[in-house]
Order: sequence, then structure tokens, then C-alpha cells
Amino acid sequence: MSRSNTFDTLLVANRGEIACRVMRTARAMGLRTVAVYSDADANARHVREADEAIRLGPAAARESYLKVEAVVEAARRSGAGAIHPGYGFLSENGAFVEALDQAGIVFVGPPASAIAAMGDKSAAKARMANAGVPLVPGYHGDDQDDALLKAEADKIGYPVLLKASAGGGGKGMRVVESTEGFQAALDGCRRESQAAFGDQRMLIEKYLTQPRHVEVQVFCDSHGNGVYLFERDCSVQRRHQKVLEEAPAPGMSEALRREMGEAAVRAAREIGYVGAGTVEFLLDADGSFFFMEMNTRLQVEHPVTEMITGQDLVEWQLRVAMGERLPLAQDELTITGHSFEARLYAEDPEQDFLPATGTLTRFAMDLEGAGLDPARVRLDSGVETGDVVSMHYDPMLAKLIVHGNDRNQALATLNRALAALDVQGVVTNRAFLQRLATHPAFKACELDTRFIEKHEETLF
Ligand code: ADP
Repeated sequence: MSRSNTFDTLLVANRGEIACRVMRTARAMGLRTVAVYSDADANARHVREADEAIRLGPAAARESYLKVEAVVEAARRSGAGAIHPGYGFLSENGAFVEALDQAGIVFVGPPASAIAAMGDKSAAKARMANAGVPLVPGYHGDDQDDALLKAEADKIGYPVLLKASAGGGGKGMRVVESTEGFQAALDGCRRESQAAFGDQRMLIEKYLTQPRHVEVQVFCDSHGNGVYLFERDCSVQRRHQKVLEEAPAPGMSEALRREMGEAAVRAAREIGYVGAGTVEFLLDADGSFFFMEMNTRLQVEHPVTEMITGQDLVEWQLRVAMGERLPLAQDELTITGHSFEARLYAEDPEQDFLPATGTLTRFAMDLEGAGLDPARVRLDSGVETGDVVSMHYDPMLAKLIVHGNDRNQALATLNRALAALDVQGVVTNRAFLQRLATHPAFKACELDTRFIEKHEETLF
């Protein structure tokens, strides 16, 4: 299926740094930009930077940024021919995509059917098995009988991970250490999943004890072309939230890189994917890798991929949405150097990472003073000095992205850039990021998803 969908006005259905980042590329491509906002964001940076801004509703996200009819109406009123959803909010909402299709507005993202295919973990795993994408050993069948599930867990071997099929955001997930604890864990998980997702179906996976989180950036156009833009290592997480990301993933052989990349493209093709997507894998110490999920949107951490490939992924998204072919073929894509991203959150690491609010009396980074090369340092931010940080939304203020000729050089630059960041008036996790980025084990690439947990004593 091919689409030709030209548009000259783009509405960005998001806020904060990603709204600003998407509009930057849209402007560079000569598009008119439309921002949307809630009452809490009436004077936010993304509103100030847009050509036109339309109010959606009150501060609560479900009454503004999550409100499908309000966003569609804003597009109509502003004459926007396309909507970029950013990440979060409506970005993976199939009903939203269908509403846009009906209104004749281009969605900058995949078809609703591809979102649906990845929305349910059990169904997604069945599709992936079909496409020859490696799965964690486990059970994802329809039969949900207690005794059967327990027999499957025993067969897989403990520890196992129970996951809600309908789950997300780390909810409805539990590690089971032994056959004795299985039934209680199953009951608990079902209750949690019923409460959060209105669905009790479970899947079971072998629990990997020291995996790395390695994800592959894929891109497909509507003409049947698909490529991978290599991988990112996002193993440094706190409660399943990514904190520090890098590209490429350290220690990958060229053969493994190609194998994972090709598996990711197969995954995307299997579901008729179009646009930017990320296939997340767990990578075991022995080099085996397993499909975890596919995120059907642009990821927070996409800039590290841009840094090592020299490509603008938002530009690719917009071109694909206009019906164009992918700008490059697989053999035209290469990796240059190394990149890190650190997520700056308004939160207090001293107080169990409690979200922080207030007025930013200063938000600046003196690159020149720190002797940093502006071509190697990028600050993607949704705020400026004087802005108010409220409690209504995700507390991420900005992302600091750096590039170096190799990992050590990039890490040194990251540390200097973190030191050059001057944020006052709101508590942030900057010092925590500095401890992470200077940690000997991080420098030595001793990465796995429990990195922060393991090094608690030296990080806090
Ligand atoms: P959610 O959709 O709720 O985020 P995921 O399936 O993506 O759930 O898993 C979230 C995190 O849990 C992963 O990033 C990884 O750190 C960990 N995880 C998931 N599956 C396994 C597994 N089989 N073994 C070990 N860790 C896992």
C-alpha cells in the first residue's frame, strides 16, 4: 500500500522537550507548526515556539493531551494536515489513529493495525515467533488454567517472570523464585492486572538474571522498504525507567549487530509497520538475544541514534508520512563514533526520587566556558529560565546528548557537559547522573538492567 499525503502544517500533539524537538525539524523543512496546550502550559516553551497554539483543556492530561476529540478539533481548526504524537500521551493509541484516518488527517506514525498487533504481549509474541524473531523461553498461550500455568513454569525452570498480557509500564509483573511460590504470585499478578488493565491473562517467561536491555531502531516506508539504524543500550534503569542510554551498544560484534538488526526489521515487516519503531531485546551474557516488545513510536532516546548515524529521525518520520521512500538503504547507513544521553529529571534522589516542582530561576549550559564543542553536545529541553515546573506531567526537563570519537571520549564529554549544566530553583537528578557517568563499573561497560540496584552503595 502506498500513500501520498502532502501537508504544509503539522500539529504536534505533545508538550515539553519532544514537542520542541519535533517542531525544530518541522520548521527546518518549511512546515508551519501548531502547538496544543493545557491550562498549565499556556506559556510553555513549546507554545512560545510554535506558529500557532491551541488550547485543549484543563491541566489534567486526560482532559487535555489525552483527549482525542479535542486534538482532532485543534487540527481541523488550525488547518493542520498531519499530527505528530511525540511519545507517551496518544502516540500508541489505536483509536486516535483511526479517528485521524476518518478525519483525513495524516498520523505521523504506524497504521492502527500495527499498534494493535504489538499492544497485547501474548499476541505480539505469537506473531514474533511466526516471523522467526527469538523469544525468551516461556509460555504465551490462550489456555489460562492454573494447573497448566504452573506446569509450564515448572517446565521453564525457576526463576520465572509472570507478566500480564495486557501489561505495560512494569505493572502486573512478578518474579517467581520457586514452584512453592507460584500460585500466590499468580493470584497477586492476576489481581494487579485486573485492576490496572481489566484483564487477567498472564504469560510466563524465563527470568534472565543479568540481561542487558538492547533495542534496535527500525524504519519502514509505505513502499515496502525497511532498515535498521543500529542499536542502543539502555541497561541503566531505575524501576524500569531508563536513565542513561548509549549508542552503539558496547561490545557488539558486527555479526550480532546484523543479526539483531535483521530480526528487528523482520518483526516490523511481520506487522506491516510504517515509520519509526523500536524493537526491544534482552541480551544475555552469552550473546543470545530475545524479543521483549516493540514500541510503535519515536523513543525518548532517539537522539543517540541520530548522533552516531548523522540522520534526523524526525525528518525521516515526516518524509515517510508524506509518502516518500526511506532516504537511505541499509548499506548506506554507518556508525560514526559513540553517543550518550542523560535524562535530567526534576526529582530528588535524596528523597526517593520524589518529583520536584518550582520556578527555574536559572536553566543554562555554558558550552564555551566549559571548552565544549557545540557540534558534540546537544541539549533537548522543553524549558528555559523563568519557566514553572508543575506536578501535572512527567518530570523529565531535558536530555543531554553528547558525541565522541569513541566511548571514552564521549563519556568524558558527558561529564564535562553535566558539570556545565546550571539549573537553579528546582531540584534535579544532575548529581546522581554525574555519579553514574563517573562510576568505574559504567566506564568499564559492566552493564545489566540491575546496574543501579547493584551499585546502590556507591551511587547514593
Ligand atoms: P513493560 O511493558 O511493563 O515495560 P517489559 O516486558 O517491557 O514490561 O519489561 C520491562 C523490563 O523488565 C525490561 O526492560 C527488563 O529490564 C525487565 N524484564 C522483562 N522481561 C524480562 C525477563 N524475561 N527476564 C529478566 N528481565 C526482564
